[in-house]
Amino acid sequence: MRTIDEYRHLVGDKVISEIIRLAKNLYGLRVLHINSTYYGGGVAEMLYSLIPLLNDVGIAADWRILRGTPEFFTITKKFHNAVQGDELNLTDVKKSLYLQNNQDFASYCKIDAECVIIHDPQPLPLIRFYKRRQPWIWRCHVDLSHPNPQLWEYLKGFILRYDHVVVSDVQYWKEDLPLPHSIIHPVIDPLSSKNKDIPKSLIAKTLKKHGVPTDKPIITQISRFDKWKDPANVIEMYKLVKEHVDCRLVLCGSMASDDPEGIMMYEKIHKLANNHLASKDIILITAEDNILVNALQRVSAVVIQKSIREGFGLTVTEALWKETPVLASNVGGIPLQMVDGETGYLIDPYDTKTGAERIVSLLQHPDEAKRMGTAGKELVRKKFLITRHLYDDLKLLSDLIT
Ligand code: UDP
Repeated sequence: MRTIDEYRHLVGDKVISEIIRLAKNLYGLRVLHINSTYYGGGVAEMLYSLIPLLNDVGIAADWRILRGTPEFFTITKKFHNAVQGDELNLTDVKKSLYLQNNQDFASYCKIDAECVIIHDPQPLPLIRFYKRRQPWIWRCHVDLSHPNPQLWEYLKGFILRYDHVVVSDVQYWKEDLPLPHSIIHPVIDPLSSKNKDIPKSLIAKTLKKHGVPTDKPIITQISRFDKWKDPANVIEMYKLVKEHVDCRLVLCGSMASDDPEGIMMYEKIHKLANNHLASKDIILITAEDNILVNALQRVSAVVIQKSIREGFGLTVTEALWKETPVLASNVGGIPLQMVDGETGYLIDPYDTKTGAERIVSLLQHPDEAKRMGTAGKELVRKKFLITRHLYDDLKLLSDLIT
C-alpha cells in the first residue's frame, strides 16, 4: 500500500503537511464509497488510489461495488447516455429494474459508516433504502450540462435526498438543485502502475506482447469503445493523417463491467478498421493492462482524445504527465487540463480535418511536440495529482462532519 510520504518528492513538503493536519481532526472517521465497477473507466481508477491514501492518513475508508444484473447495467448505460443528452424512453419497467437492483443490493449491504459517498447514477437510488444517520454525498463524474429533461426530473427525486453533491467542474452544476455542492476536479496517481516511470525495456517488452510494432510513429487513443469517445472518427482522422505521414494508429479500450455497449461498439470499429486501406496499421486492443496503457502513453508521438462529450478525460491527464502532446476535443473537462498550442491542441469535436492537420504538424515537428509535452507535465503536477484530491476530500469531510 502506498503512503502519503511517497509523494513528497513530487508535490513538496507543504502539501503533505497540509493533508496530515486536515486529516488529524478526522482520525478514525468511517467513510464508505460505493460505485458500480472496480475496473475500466476513470472512477474506478481514482478510487483505487484514493482509498488507500485516505486510510494511510487515518480515515477508515471503505469501498464497495454495487452488484447488478446485465439488464440493470443495460439500463444504467442508457441512463448514462441520456444524462449526457441522448434520447431515452423512460418506461416504468426501466425505472422499476433500476430501483429493484438498488433495493436488492441494500438488502445485503449493511452500512455503519459515518459518511457515505455514492458515485454516479448507478447506485444513486440506494439512499432510498437506508435509514440514514449520516451525511450522504452524491459524487457525479459525468457531464450534467445537457441531461435529457425527463430523466433529469426522475434522477433529481433521488438527488434531493442527499446532503451534498460533488461535480467535476463548475459547468456541470445544475442551478435547479437546491443543495450544497462542491467542485472537485479529477486527478491521476503519479505512482500507480499506469503512471509511474517505467524502464524502456519494459515498454518494449509490453508493446511486443500486445503486438504493437514501434518502427513507425504511433498515434493512440485510449478509451472505452463508447460512442461518446468517437472511435469511428478517430479512424477517419487517421486516414487523413496517413496521407501525409506514415504512422500507426492504436485504439486501446478495455471493457468495463458496467458498460454492456462496449462489445457492440468494438465490433463496429473492428469492421471499420478492417475495411480501411491501411488496416494492417490500425491496431485494436481490448486488454486490461495498466502497464500497456503506461507504455502506449509514453511511446506515442501524439495521444488523441476525440470525445464528443467528456466528464473530465483522465486519459488526457495521464498522457500529459508522460510528456506526450495531446490532440483533444474542446469539450467537457478537457479544456481545464489543456492549453491550446501549449500542451497540445484543442479541436472542435466534429472537425476531423483540423484534427488531422494538427496531428501531422506534431509528427513533423518533434521539437515542438517535446516542448508541449514538457509543459503538459508541469500543468498536471500543479493541478491534477492525487494529493490535491485527497486534500479536497478531507476538506469536504471536515466541513460536513465537524
Ligand atoms: N483505461 C484503461 N484501459 C483502457 C481504456 C481506458 O485503463 O483500455 C483507463 C484510462 O487509462 C483512464 C480511464 O480508464 O484512467 C478512463 O478515464 P476517462 O476519464 O478518460 O474516461 P471514462 O472512461 O471515465 O469516461
